[in-house]
Amino acid sequence: MKAKDIAALLDEPACSHNQKSKSGCARPKPGATAGGCAFDGAQIALLPIADVAHIVHGSIACAGSSWDNRGARSSGPALYKIGMTTDLTEQDVIMGRGEKRLFHSIKQAIDSYHPAAVFVHNTCVPALMGDDIEAVCRAAEERWQVPVVPVDAAGFYGTKNLGNRIAGETMVKYVVGTREPDPLPPAAAKLDFKIHDINLVGEYNIAGEFWHVLPLLDELGLRVLCTLSGDARYREVQTMHRAEVNMMVCSKAMINVARKLQEAFGTPWFEGSFYGVADVSQALRDFARQINDADLSKRTETLIAREETRIHKLLEPWRQRLRGKRVLLYTGGVKSWSVISALQDLGMHVVATGTKKSTEEDKARIRQLMGDDVRMLDDGNPRALLDLVREQRVDILIAGGRNMYTALKARLPFLDINQEREFGYAGYEGMLELARQMALTLESPVWQAVRQPAPWDVDVIDADLTATQKKSQGA
Ligand code: SF4
Repeated sequence: MKAKDIAALLDEPACSHNQKSKSGCARPKPGATAGGCAFDGAQIALLPIADVAHIVHGSIACAGSSWDNRGARSSGPALYKIGMTTDLTEQDVIMGRGEKRLFHSIKQAIDSYHPAAVFVHNTCVPALMGDDIEAVCRAAEERWQVPVVPVDAAGFYGTKNLGNRIAGETMVKYVVGTREPDPLPPAAAKLDFKIHDINLVGEYNIAGEFWHVLPLLDELGLRVLCTLSGDARYREVQTMHRAEVNMMVCSKAMINVARKLQEAFGTPWFEGSFYGVADVSQALRDFARQINDADLSKRTETLIAREETRIHKLLEPWRQRLRGKRVLLYTGGVKSWSVISALQDLGMHVVATGTKKSTEEDKARIRQLMGDDVRMLDDGNPRALLDLVREQRVDILIAGGRNMYTALKARLPFLDINQEREFGYAGYEGMLELARQMALTLESPVWQAVRQPAPWDVDVIDADLTATQKKSQGA
């Protein structure tokens, strides 16, 4: 990737308006972890495309950032779960054999797995060696007549977020617009409403949570051409240019895709969330508003009324168990505000929220939900989190997996909200799951047990000794 292309991507702010915000994107500080390299970000963004052979061109260590650690689910192919790498060694570097190894690796992937396409993920070592992965991909594609896409986001180009954007840019440049969508099935002609085509960008189907939302879209006649990239197929990405509207599900990852599709094909887009009853309803309304179909708006309102009545009834017993509980939310991006609204729906009190990876617009939304005095945590080191837990009498920490041990060591109930989690929280059904998981976590008998003094605690030993002495005296 050329330096000027990287600079253009870095210049693009992450908020939904294409203007520079006060602080722009989160930038790594010396001594702080940037949360992954550009290669990692590109891999995260594209690996859930399930029928593609993803080859990591570099040393085997880079391939360690496997998607297997994350919870994106596929309803079909599992090819994306197979870790493939050119496994460059010192000898390859010295002898300049990187391109040759890559060419043979592409052949092996095609021969062994017959993938819909091959994605070649570049890393630091071949980028520094000067391997021309674009030329190798072109040659391989001509030779084996399978699409081979170079994803040139070597780790040292920048942060994980930059990698997300390079990945999106790559899809727009090489894949989107190379195929037309399938025609609608004959049964669609008999329906008394019109089918509209949509895309979701930045939706990863973590723990299969998008499957909570899909039936609602189906019922409304919104055909999802592609979710970039949860449970996606290569052939779906090819058709993204034909959508009538794009929804940005996460404000930071791949926002450039929505902008580029608007520039190139005039597709409008909006930013939304599927977490929390109010936000799911709002997202459905936004589709109808953007498509501007009166009949769709009417059917959307009917569906929302029915679903909200049903889910509020089901949520009531959980609300009674969760009402008034104090939550410390430490996550980032869209979740820093969308989960707040879900928790407020349940009558819980959010004492502070993490904003390390949030944009200015995310912060504005947080203020809207929690008022101007809201506490935002830019630095979530364990000490700062635990101090806040004590000061604010927090009942539960909701954060990413890396904070789990901080919570457990402090004997504090913890719920994983990030990509490694096992439960899907999107959609109306996801809200029910979130409430259930929180109640189970808060009410687990383990907290009472671990908060007791340990058996070897001096007081306990003293008490035991006294009891033994009394017994022996009595005897
Ligand atoms: S920084 Fe470079 S070497 Fe390290 S994991 Fe990322 S791509 Fe690989």
